[in-house]
This record gives sequence, structure tokens and C-alpha cells, in this order.
Amino acid sequence: MMKNLKPNVCVIGGGAAGFFGALQLAEKIKSKANIVLLEKSKEPLGKVKISGGGRCNVTHNLFDIEELIKKYPRGSKELKYAFQKFQPKDTITWFQKRNVALKAEEDGRMFPTTDSSSTIINCFLSETQKQEINLLLGTGVRSIFLNPDSKEERFVLSIDNDTEIKCACILIATGSSKKVWNWLTSLGHTIEPPVPSLFTFSIPNSRYSNLPGISVPKAEVRLLPKGKPQSGPLLITHWGFSGPAILKLSAFEAKNLAESDYKAKIGINWIGDFQTNELFSYFTNLRKDNPSKLIGSISLHPFPSRLFQMFLSNANIPLDKRLAETSNDELSQLSKEITAGEFDMDGKSTFKDEFVTCGGVKRKEINFEKMESKIIPGMFFAGEVIDIDGITGGFNFQNAWTTSTIASIGIDKYLT
Ligand SMILES: Cc1cc2nc3c(=O)[nH]c(=O)nc-3n(C[C@H](O)[C@H](O)[C@H](O)COP(=O)(O)OP(=O)(O)OC[C@H]3O[C@@H](n4cnc5c(N)ncnc54)[C@H](O)[C@@H]3O)c2cc1C
Repeated sequence: MMKNLKPNVCVIGGGAAGFFGALQLAEKIKSKANIVLLEKSKEPLGKVKISGGGRCNVTHNLFDIEELIKKYPRGSKELKYAFQKFQPKDTITWFQKRNVALKAEEDGRMFPTTDSSSTIINCFLSETQKQEINLLLGTGVRSIFLNPDSKEERFVLSIDNDTEIKCACILIATGSSKKVWNWLTSLGHTIEPPVPSLFTFSIPNSRYSNLPGISVPKAEVRLLPKGKPQSGPLLITHWGFSGPAILKLSAFEAKNLAESDYKAKIGINWIGDFQTNELFSYFTNLRKDNPSKLIGSISLHPFPSRLFQMFLSNANIPLDKRLAETSNDELSQLSKEITAGEFDMDGKSTFKDEFVTCGGVKRKEINFEKMESKIIPGMFFAGEVIDIDGITGGFNFQNAWTTSTIASIGIDKYLT
């Protein structure tokens, strides 16, 4: 296989970015290089398999690049250029051309119409075979040596079976591998320290934990005292809070939360569109118009009655009090409880549908027009190995598809 006049191009890592990169490379450089895809485990695409709860949230139904980049707490500036070359629309077309139809859910997340990640895996495996990519499974790369005197064999990879592969260039798509980040550091790259992103919040003894499963559609959550608010649906869990608003906050505050060892004060506005004074005015008008109504019987959209009654008891207002009997202090307390609740976070829990690492190869050390290292020419990067991560919703895979496509363009140029 290697005894061929064409140079080798090695893709290290058989995950989302590695497979997509190898396939994009095959379209461009098959006539001038052998593409070798090395994956350390026997089964490739492990994360794709479990992604999106086994359904694989491939991308997001969001095509406006200015809006799209806002979904990346780290890397939005750099991805702006990259998305002009390959964005969710291109992902949909790429899969469509290979007979994989994607569908969008109401919240914009896109899945294969089969609702099964095997559809994506089977597509990648059959395309890899069709394109005659040399897929080496159970073949981890142990280290990389540079051979600067040769363009065609510039990189020497030492692999698991004690042999070597020489290649003209490499695409590193190893995800969040500490070992690989250590090699890259020894080769001169800087690694932004990895910390988890996309997790739920543990709030021991939260005053809402006896309402697990109840959610509100548009809450605003932030780190107190001065964090930037994130909005979206909020879900009460047995152990604290989850839902898109919390996952977004976990992503945008990933570094701050890691530094505080996941102990922080969290502010929640359960009815994101209203401020405390607006809600207070609403309640005082309600009191004027419905003096004899019991406060516990009010229905306040969009809250389920059990949740509204919990707001009342947390504001120390008896449910059987008539509105006329409530004081301004009580209504103010209730408005605060709903719009400015304070909670003590103490720890995090895993969100099973998606998880990602923030941190990785410093973006300033990569030329995003080609995804090539500015430090080691001929070394390209794609996916989670880079210090880029998105919020939940298909944005992390989109990063893998986009950066690996740009890397394939860069490698094509490098070889000519
Ligand atoms: C439970 C879970 C669910 C998720 N669901 C979604 C989702 O639905 N939508 C979404 O957008 N994102 C999702 N994500 C995030 C997404 O999976 C990642 O962002 C994406 O997989 C990153 O792709 P990657 O190719 O860069 O890294 P990976 O998928 O991690 O692939 C890296 C590969 O490199 C291999 N490797 C590492 N070191 C070596 C070595 N030395 N030699 C050879 N091979 C090596 C690894 O074995 C691995 O197969 C989810 C993540 C998790 C954990």
C-alpha cells in the first residue's frame, strides 16, 4: 500500500472531523496522494454513534453566518471565514448527494430522517471504501517526527504496531486527546487548557427540586453578579437545573465555572421578557382589577400552576390570600422570586446528549484559510483538537465538517 509513487497524506483520528476530512480530501487529491486514515480504536466514529442520544444531531438549520457564529463561545471570529466556504447548507447538500436526507426539528436541530446515527456512520464507511481511502483501525499514532529535508516524507508517524508511516502532510483530527496535545506542545504549539463545556448545574436543596421535569420556554440565566445572560428553555431537575439556557451558560462561562470549581451564584429570570418592576406593575394592576381573587388561583402564562404556586410559597405568600390582602412588599418579593431568583451552584452533572471540551490548539497558531499550523508547515487541524467549541444543537459537528473541509482545501494547495 505504501510502496507507491504517490506521497501519503495521513489523517490522524477516525472521528467526525477525520472521516469528513479524508472524504473531502479524496474528492480533491486522490490522483496525487494516497490518503491514509488512522484510528486508534477498533471501532471508528465512537462519538458519532452516541451523539444526540443515538440520533446524531448532524447540524443546525441556521444559514445566516452572522447568527451562526454566535453559537460558538470560542472560535466565532475564525469560523466566520470558514463558514463562507462550508456551512450547514453545504452539510445538508453533502449528505443529500450521498442519499442521506436530514430533517429539521422545531428548535432547528437537524437529524437524519432515520433518527439513527448508524445512517451517518454507514454513509461514511461506504464512502471511505468507495474512495479507496486506506482506513487503518486499531492503529493509534504514538508520536510524530519531523523530517524537514524531504517534502514528500516530511512527517514520520510512529504507530501502534511498532512501524512507521512517512507522509507529505498530516491532518490532525484527534478530538480532545491529552496525549496528542502533549506532542503538539513539544512541537512548539500552545494548548489552551481543556475544561468541560455543555453540562447541567447541580444546585443542592434547590427550592424547586421537588418539581423535576417542569420546564419554562424562555428563561434568562446568568452568573451573578455581572455575567452575560443566556436565554432559552429551562428545565427543573432532581439535582438542579438543565435545558438549553443552562447548557448555553455552561458553554459561555466554561472557563469561569472551571476556575471556581463549579461553585457560583446563579441568577434566574423565569420569564425572560419581563423585568422585576414590570412584573410588579402587572401584579398591582391585577390586584386592582381582581381584588377578591385568590392569589393561588392566578394563572400566569407560561407557568404551569404548580410552578406558580411554588413561586408564591418561596415568596412566603399563602396561596389562599385574596389579591386585595396582599401587600406591596409581598408582590415585590414575588416579582423578585420570578425575575431575579438567586441559587447556589455546587457542582455539575453530565448532559448525556452532547458533551464537548473547551480548549485545545490555540487558534492564533492556525491559519484558518487553510487550517494549517503557523508553526509547522504541512500540519493541518480539524475538529475538537482546536480551541473551538459550540453550544448544543449540532454546532459542534458543524465545526468538524467545516474545519475538515477547509483543511482539505489547504492540503490540496500544499501538495501543488
Ligand atoms: C455523548 C456526546 C454526544 C454528542 N452529541 C453531539 C451532537 O448530537 N451534535 C453535535 O454537533 N455534537 C455532539 N457531540 C460533540 C461531537 O461529538 C464532537 O464535537 C465531535 O465528535 C468532534 O469530532 P472530532 O473528530 O474532532 O473528535 P472525535 O469525534 O473525538 O474523534 C477523534 C478520534 O481520534 C481518535 N484518536 C485520538 N488520538 C489518536 C491517536 N493518537 N491516533 C489515532 N487516533 C486517535 C479517537 O479515538 C477518536 O476516534 C457529542 C459529544 C458527546 C460526548
